[in-house]
Amino acid sequence: MTHPVPDLSVRLDQLRVAQLYRRRRVQTSPQCPQAIVDGRRLLSFCSNDYLGLANHPAVIAALQQGAERWGVGSGAAHLVTGHSSAHQRLEEALAAFTGRPRALLFSTGYMANLGVITALSERKDIVFEDRLNHASLLDGALLSRATLRRYPHADPVALSRLLDQNGARLIATDGVFSMDGDLAPLPELALTARKAGAWLLVDDAHGLGVLGRGGRGSLDHFGLDAEEVHVLMGTLGKAFGTFGAFVAGSEELVETLIQLARSYIFTTASPPALAEATRASLELAEREDWRRERLKSLIGRFRQGALQLGLPLTDSITPIQPLLAGSTRRALAWSQALERVGILIGAIRPPTVPEGTARLRITFSASHTESNVDRLLDALAELPMDSPDEATSDR
Ligand SMILES: *Cc1c(COP(=O)(O)O)cnc(C)c1O
Repeated sequence: MTHPVPDLSVRLDQLRVAQLYRRRRVQTSPQCPQAIVDGRRLLSFCSNDYLGLANHPAVIAALQQGAERWGVGSGAAHLVTGHSSAHQRLEEALAAFTGRPRALLFSTGYMANLGVITALSERKDIVFEDRLNHASLLDGALLSRATLRRYPHADPVALSRLLDQNGARLIATDGVFSMDGDLAPLPELALTARKAGAWLLVDDAHGLGVLGRGGRGSLDHFGLDAEEVHVLMGTLGKAFGTFGAFVAGSEELVETLIQLARSYIFTTASPPALAEATRASLELAEREDWRRERLKSLIGRFRQGALQLGLPLTDSITPIQPLLAGSTRRALAWSQALERVGILIGAIRPPTVPEGTARLRITFSASHTESNVDRLLDALAELPMDSPDEATSDR
């Protein structure tokens, strides 16, 4: 006798009905504001290539020369024979950049967060996380089998109260929240962590390269050092324009990760040529302050224009400038209306953001121009802002 395998179509139909079905777009241009997507030229405001380095000639050349020198594949995990001097030099550069004794490369940011949280906590522990943390931080806590307690967004007072009742092993937060663009209250969180004797892990995927002196990120923005924030995680696929991630901290922290972080140990090292490309982009990101200046002026221009139009802005100072739509239906309608006039901005829906907070996630890059921003504002001015059914259409 045989049984049919479980039927997936029911679940897929549910997603379609809830307008949560996702579909990939096919891009035929490199990362740049003038994207070609599904065969159409669109002005894009949804890349995380904040500094415009993903397609920079010097970074491309470093990758090409790296491939000549190293070939393509690393061939093995770091603990076997995959760890090259290219990886080693990048780790040294990242340690120097972040002002910490050591840095350890991971293949992706998702894996870095899984690795660091599972290495630092176990079943009997409690991990505290901001409720709007990136999925990879939340998943890391679930995988560690520690108890995960989520505290209200950016609320150190509520966190302190929870800590008084429980005690903690680890507190984890985004530095810049990926869907909102606001900064975590890091000085207060650092103080709270210190009082509780807990590690503080900051995921600065959207702060590095963008905030602080030389793009040193959220910690530098607040003047916090390695004593105050023990574990810094950063990604390389956003402002640095390449791919991968790292964790920076003390000698003991990095040695612990090398011994215990399973997402580090049981995976092939990333291509050495990629490490060469990232070293080139790190240098550009640090040296070329004009990219950050330009971003700041584009963000200012956008916010001023949006304010005049009465758009529902948040108080973000970063290149992430969400426009809250509320319902999934409204966010989709906005995104489609923009696309009709040649502008690409994705609608962000649950479960990426909480129910009832669907939005357009607008992001800026140093490779945008002022006239790009003006064109965006003109298009936003035409969006239908009121729709009678918006409160209920998520149900
Ligand atoms: C993108 C992102 C990650 C994941 O990094 P990848 O290298 O893309 O896997 C982790 N945390 C935050 C806050 C992010 O935005």
